[in-house]
Amino acid sequence: MDKNDSVINKLPEAFLERMKLQLGSQYDAFAASYDRERAYGLRYNPLKTDRESFLREMPFSLRAVPWAEEGFYYQASDQPGRHVLHEAGAYYIQEPSAMAVVPLLDPQPGERILDLCAAPGGKSTQIAGRMQGRGLLVSNEVIPSRARILSQNIERMGVANCVVCRESPDRIAAAFPAFFDRVLVDAPCSGEGMFRKDDTAIAEWSPENVAMCAARQADILEQAAMAVRPGGTLVYSTCTFSREENEEVIGRFLDGHPEFSMQEDDMRRLWPHLTEGEGHFAAKLYRKEAAEGIPERRGKKPSQIPRSAVTREQCEAFFQGELGITAEGIGYLMKERVLFEFGEALYLMPEQMIPLKGLQVERPGLQTGFLEKDRIRPSHALAMALRPEYTTRCYDMTEDEAARYLHGETLTVSAGLKGWYLLSCRGFSMGFGKASGGQMKNHYPKGLRRRQ
Ligand code: SAM
Repeated sequence: MDKNDSVINKLPEAFLERMKLQLGSQYDAFAASYDRERAYGLRYNPLKTDRESFLREMPFSLRAVPWAEEGFYYQASDQPGRHVLHEAGAYYIQEPSAMAVVPLLDPQPGERILDLCAAPGGKSTQIAGRMQGRGLLVSNEVIPSRARILSQNIERMGVANCVVCRESPDRIAAAFPAFFDRVLVDAPCSGEGMFRKDDTAIAEWSPENVAMCAARQADILEQAAMAVRPGGTLVYSTCTFSREENEEVIGRFLDGHPEFSMQEDDMRRLWPHLTEGEGHFAAKLYRKEAAEGIPERRGKKPSQIPRSAVTREQCEAFFQGELGITAEGIGYLMKERVLFEFGEALYLMPEQMIPLKGLQVERPGLQTGFLEKDRIRPSHALAMALRPEYTTRCYDMTEDEAARYLHGETLTVSAGLKGWYLLSCRGFSMGFGKASGGQMKNHYPKGLRRRQ
């Protein structure tokens, strides 16, 4: 690269001066890292495959990311975003150092977990992969347009146990006092770790903006802390380098909150000059077991959860009769879930969720179908959460058919096929189709169809 083209030449002088002070003798290595090629990363989706099968199926040249077992580096020429299996939710494209936060959070199946600043969903979908469809994940994003994108990514990755909210942190704190086992705050920040790929982050950087971000981060962390149950954990992360937005936010929070503590090796930094990635900060805090003044964990009150006109038995009959879903598949989809009507659609909501009244909810769980007169039309989200082995009615497409399916084309199939089919490619679900007279009618959502 010509030295004049280096990103470092575009960076504000005040930022570079701060980094010199912060990094001391490491500054030259940090500055030189801007001349290296960016590292590209993706994470395979454990809800849809396992590591070995993924490596066997993918036509990319992958190398393991050391700090996340689901993570791989790929080469830019692989273009995984254009492959049909991206739409199948086989993997999620994510900056490699951003993958370090969820292993620190360490989510477990069956827990209650909150991702407070979740869009577009990189960390939420990684959390969901580790929860294996069990427990409750609340993914929240305050900006409505971003909450919609978050919801689409949750759907593409086939997450069955996630409620997507679009609330401010203070309203989440009020609705879920001392409720969650683990809370993640991936805070909005000045984005110093984004400078190599995002010119806007460079243009918006100023010392005043860093100070504004730090104040906002402190506010968000205050609210997030209220949602952590006694004995639970809180992880705070950013993709920025300044101490002001990282160590200092954590330090002030701990000074004001004796009920939280941190172990020394639970504060982590990934630096672009020391690792292959753009850099990240993460810290894990522990809330002490119940002490005076900490509200009890709020339990659900089943009688307050609205139900649906469709009974569980009717839903099961539809799953089994029309979609060929096996008993194991029905268990995976329905166990510990409440059937729930929201708008014109039917959802399966994790039963650990609190009543929705008063909350801005983008998606109250797994959308399973739309109620149409006396029948149910299966929803795309259901297909994405349904592994092919959970149904006897699956049609595995060739890659060419899958590409045509993503464009909205009708497929020609054997005349013997009739009714709903889960359409998959290389064993990854992609959506539903309805067969009759040798044609597979395309039910891939119009808004998601590829245009070229
Ligand atoms: N966790 C996400 C992921 O891994 O894909 C990235 C989150 S991004 C760093 C921070 C998010 O916080 C953005 O989606 C932004 O819209 C949201 N945000 C902005 N202002 C906020 C505020 N005042 N309170 C809470 N969230 C806010």
